[in-house]
Amino acid sequence: MQIVTLLSSPGVHISCEVFPPKDFAKVDEVKAVVADIAALTPAYVSVTYGAAGNTPQFTREIAQTVQAAGVPALAHLTCVNDTISKIDAVLDSLQAAGVDNVLALRGDIPEGASFPSGDHFTHAAQLVRYVKARGGFCVGAACYPEGHPEATSRAQDMDFLKRKVDAGVDFLTTQLFFDNATLYHFMYRALRAGIDVPVCAGIMPVINARQIKRIAALSGATLSPRFWSIVDRFGGDAASMRQAGVAYATEQIIDLIANGVENIHLYTMNRVDVARDVFRNLGVIIGK
Ligand code: FAD
Repeated sequence: MQIVTLLSSPGVHISCEVFPPKDFAKVDEVKAVVADIAALTPAYVSVTYGAAGNTPQFTREIAQTVQAAGVPALAHLTCVNDTISKIDAVLDSLQAAGVDNVLALRGDIPEGASFPSGDHFTHAAQLVRYVKARGGFCVGAACYPEGHPEATSRAQDMDFLKRKVDAGVDFLTTQLFFDNATLYHFMYRALRAGIDVPVCAGIMPVINARQIKRIAALSGATLSPRFWSIVDRFGGDAASMRQAGVAYATEQIIDLIANGVENIHLYTMNRVDVARDVFRNLGVIIGK
């Protein structure tokens, strides 16, 4: 099923994310994660693309496992490290596997900026346009409520996002954020810029204090004062921090739904227990 059709239908849609293994030895482990996540009946499951794009076969295999479990799969695809012919090969293999939803991303610029020799893309918008022209895929893309870390201003970032959407994006997924007001401001600015495709709000339940600085550095997301208080109070005790992190994410989701944001993407990081707790907390609200 095309994810844009699902996201455009009435009701709350909660999706989950899994990352594929780095080597063959862990494939079965991740497949077991997929089976447990699929049992929660998320709207869809997205499967990330290894940084530097060197394990596309695992993204495809895990996406195929998601679909075999009866859940639509969204395969991530980055372009900055790959030639166009490699991207074509990945798209061919996804199509052959029956995966017809792709999240088209640039990826992070490699250290030293050594782009592949041969034809390649430098921005996600070029990949979006290419995949749409090829046909057969519903294409999502990333957006950043606080602006992408490389952008010189939010206005410029919104301008580039609009160009990406105009290239054919069917839906957007946001970078994680900890303060819902950030998302509401972003949605307002996006609408003013003429962006009206469905937007999935990205929520990450942060369940241990060690993750926090790394996540903030990688994503560029600001940690809200409310969240810092939780870390200060509970960060030293793993069980309390886990419970508080799940509660914080649940509360964020309830507030989003209450304010009409009904497409939500959970950055589950292969933590089935955490996904299960969030789904359980939302219970009747999401009809589970
Ligand atoms: P782009 O849309 O190309 O934007 C990148 C930067 O370039 C922005 O600052 C933008 O303002 C600017 N820009 C855009 N167009 C132009 C232009 N024409 N001229 C000049 N500047 C321009 N990474 C992975 O490696 N694997 C994954 O699976 C993965 N999944 C992700 C999922 C989500 C939901 C998100 C939010 C991010 C994900 N990432 C993943 C990280 C992503 O690859 C990085 O954030 C990357 O730095 C930017 O990717 P993008 O697709 O947003 O790039």
